Amino acid sequence: MPVTRPVALFNEEAAEWPHFAPHLRAAFAAAGLDVELRERFDGRPVDYLIHGPNGPEQNFARLPGLKAVLNLWAGVERVVTNPTLTVPLTRMVDPGMTEGMAEYVAAHVLRFHVGTDRHVLGQDGLWRPETPPLARDRPVGVLGLGVLGAATARMLAVLGFPVTGWSRRPATVPGVTCLGGAEGLRAVLSQAQIVVLLVPLTPDTANLLNAERLGWLPRGAAIVNPGRGGLIDDDALLAALDSGQVGHATLDVFRTEPLPPDHPFWAHPRVTVTPHIASVTRPESASRVIAENIRRAEAGEPLLHLVDRGAGY
Ligand code: NAP
Repeated sequence: MPVTRPVALFNEEAAEWPHFAPHLRAAFAAAGLDVELRERFDGRPVDYLIHGPNGPEQNFARLPGLKAVLNLWAGVERVVTNPTLTVPLTRMVDPGMTEGMAEYVAAHVLRFHVGTDRHVLGQDGLWRPETPPLARDRPVGVLGLGVLGAATARMLAVLGFPVTGWSRRPATVPGVTCLGGAEGLRAVLSQAQIVVLLVPLTPDTANLLNAERLGWLPRGAAIVNPGRGGLIDDDALLAALDSGQVGHATLDVFRTEPLPPDHPFWAHPRVTVTPHIASVTRPESASRVIAENIRRAEAGEPLLHLVDRGAGY
């Protein structure tokens, strides 16, 4: 009987193909896999979809023979809600992406903490000495203690911040106080001078930071949101920024992306907008994760990083 090669279809924006294709081929070879990698769908059967939310194929029912959708992004809110998804879905857990996220958050937390902007943006000839507190006196809250949240919380703890994290199920992260539940959320927010959002967007976390919960923060607290735009009620945030309840918000993700040029976040003096770059999937390390999952699927082994569709992440 002829041995058929498994087929993997690359389904992300066309501009990403040259960045990923050589690394995917190298990773398949390193994993001992003979995979046919296709650049676009041509009607023939496909075993594995290497999937991005901006890829051309969003109707999975069109793909005959599909065995699994291997997401290139960590966030899966647009895939789990796709009604044509009937096969296992994995999300991306990429060591490069994890490192990048911890670095992004550390940079923006330190910027607020030491008051970088006051000095970097105010070179006007006036001598205004101001001493920030030490990190040990600046409590930080990290909402979400998964792959990215735990790594980020650990990095912040190493920098000296007292870090309290919050997750759905009980968590243990070295150097981090870990809480859960509604009471835990209130406890984290009530003392966090800086709060970082790294929960996924699900029905349970939509509008997590609403007007009431923004009011639990100590006055003047900073928010760093590399999670998802829908985690924050935009109008409530703008009101809290205007009143001074929130001192600064660094936002990487938005309900509409790209953020429309006339959105009030762009012009708000207390908002920093970054264009969903907190941490991207790194083609080389991510390709190894994709290859390992195809190897597992072909060997009948359980897939890594399977999405719990009931929980939505
Ligand atoms: P993950 O490993 O799945 O971790 C998610 C964390 O959130 C877990 O600790 C989970 O709790 C917690 N959580 C989920 N629902 C919750 C709820 N209802 N209440 C309390 N905690 C809840 O995800 P990840 O890989 O760390 O990624 C987190 C998110 O970052 C992604 O979903 C994506 O939206 C975002 N992201 C953004 C960028 C960017 O560039 N801006 C890049 C990558 C990812 P349990 O531990 O109990 O499950």
